[in-house]
Amino acid sequence: MTARAERRSFWTWGYLSDEPTEKERIAVAKNLARRLGTEITPPRVPDISQLKLRNPRIAVPSKYKAWVTNDHNDRVTHTYGGHPIELLAALRGDFRHPPDAVAHPRNEDELEATLSWCDDNGYTAIPYGGGTSVVWGVNVPHDSASAVTIDLDNLNNVLEIDDVSRAGRFQAGILGPDLEAALRPNGLTLRHFPQSFPWSTVGGWVATRSGGHYATNGTHIDDFVESTRMLSPTGWFESRRLPGSGAGPSPDRLVIGSEGTLGIISECWLRLQKRPRYRATAGVIYPSWDSGCTAVRHIVQTKLWPANLRILDPVEAGNNAGLDGKQSLVIIGFESADVPQGENIAVAVAIAREYGGVIADEDIVVDNGQGNTTGRTGPVGAWRSAFIGVNAGLTAGLGLLTDTFETATTWNNWPNFDAHVRERVGRVLRETMGESATLSCRFTHVYPDGPAPYYSFSGVAPRGGEAEIWRQIKEEATASLVDAGGTVTHHHAVGRMHARGWSQQRPPLFGDVLKATKATLDPNGILNPGVLLKI
Ligand SMILES: Cc1cc2nc3c(=O)[nH]c(=O)nc-3n(C[C@H](O)[C@H](O)[C@H](O)COP(=O)(O)OP(=O)(O)OC[C@H]3O[C@@H](n4cnc5c(N)ncnc54)[C@H](O)[C@@H]3O)c2cc1C
Repeated sequence: MTARAERRSFWTWGYLSDEPTEKERIAVAKNLARRLGTEITPPRVPDISQLKLRNPRIAVPSKYKAWVTNDHNDRVTHTYGGHPIELLAALRGDFRHPPDAVAHPRNEDELEATLSWCDDNGYTAIPYGGGTSVVWGVNVPHDSASAVTIDLDNLNNVLEIDDVSRAGRFQAGILGPDLEAALRPNGLTLRHFPQSFPWSTVGGWVATRSGGHYATNGTHIDDFVESTRMLSPTGWFESRRLPGSGAGPSPDRLVIGSEGTLGIISECWLRLQKRPRYRATAGVIYPSWDSGCTAVRHIVQTKLWPANLRILDPVEAGNNAGLDGKQSLVIIGFESADVPQGENIAVAVAIAREYGGVIADEDIVVDNGQGNTTGRTGPVGAWRSAFIGVNAGLTAGLGLLTDTFETATTWNNWPNFDAHVRERVGRVLRETMGESATLSCRFTHVYPDGPAPYYSFSGVAPRGGEAEIWRQIKEEATASLVDAGGTVTHHHAVGRMHARGWSQQRPPLFGDVLKATKATLDPNGILNPGVLLKI
């Protein structure tokens, strides 16, 4: 069964089989209630058929009915992306802004017909991959008079594999697991694993410049794109397959990160790799956050390119890896298809120790292709299980407000950057959620010239007041990132959520150039209005 065979959950990440059971939700609520000394009952999940939607404002002409629908369930499951505040609204039955129709084109002719139909009638058109956007990228704008969500789910094939150049041609709607399953018999992998991998698509990754979970080298989807094919209301936009080129600004660079505002990506060629076989992992403990960060900088600057080089601050290392709340944990991992990784991990660990890190030799795990359970025990294993086990549905509606924000800055700006962000966001957290609030940080990616810190916050918010409290925290977080010289997003994308912050970060003239580009490709402004650019 492909992942596509199941219906998407309307109130949590993933599919119906990803939804936690009533029993699991009650157990988590009881746990939380014990911690907070209060009564907590998880809210009832509404029956999808009972959710109230406004009448569709678009009548689907009979010639499109084979792939365009006003079906109730389809409109419900395409109303929201994957941000916790959206999922909370869904759980509470708030479906005030559903799409009027949902299209599932089965080929490029139907894709063209759908986009022309939207353009001719002035319908807002929302390209949709897996719907995991956490930045309001797939929602119907509240002021839009009519909207069609264009789901690429039927364009989900591997069209070609070029073994010689090691690249593949994929339709945009293919989901992560289906893509990897198709490559496995050839011993190949895309090796792009965002945390949302099971539910997100090639088209979504390219449209949002997604970041995979590898910390260095070849981890952003940008690194793998060889060429793209995109349909805009003005026409097709297709680039040539090239391993590299110095010919002017790159057409692919316009498509990658365009977030559905310039056209609908229908397919792309992506660079592939041999599946890794050799692995090595170590978890190194530091007495403080600062000493661990310094060690990470020195390791990444050796250009050993570890697949994993993640530091957890004392709060995260305490909560998720069993450390004492003062120490931080650096997780180092290497992998390769061809070369044993024992030497690389030895060099990285030597640098880690030089900067005050503690690890016993026997805790360095080297797998020379024999399938060791690499790094599955101790603090590294504990953290890995906590990371994989995250499920938004377990805590939804319990009054616990949690979210993350991610950024990047140069090493010379760190740790002042961190102190600035923590001071400002910490203050709003305390003002809004008091003693219950926590703020923590880890690096998801590291570069020789700077880290990509990923902040998480949580706290107890009065039920019903979560969205307003979240707004205050988010505004301060975004402002603090811009003011401190970072980026408003390192990999979660801009969407509508970060459009204002991004306008403060980029050169003003660049915004004008993008608007002019949009006016050429989408002259009626039907594609994702409000995403990336306020026009
Ligand atoms: C639990 C969770 C974990 C996540 N982890 C990560 C992570 O590790 N790294 C990361 O980068 N992101 C992460 N995200 C964010 C999200 O998964 C990414 O932005 C992902 O790339 C979106 O892919 P999608 O197929 O779900 O696209 P969607 O959510 O459907 O769409 C995202 C945006 O792209 C546009 N779009 C989608 N398909 C196309 C297309 N074919 N042509 C043109 N525009 C299109 C949409 O209009 C929208 O604006 C996470 C989200 C969740 C919920």
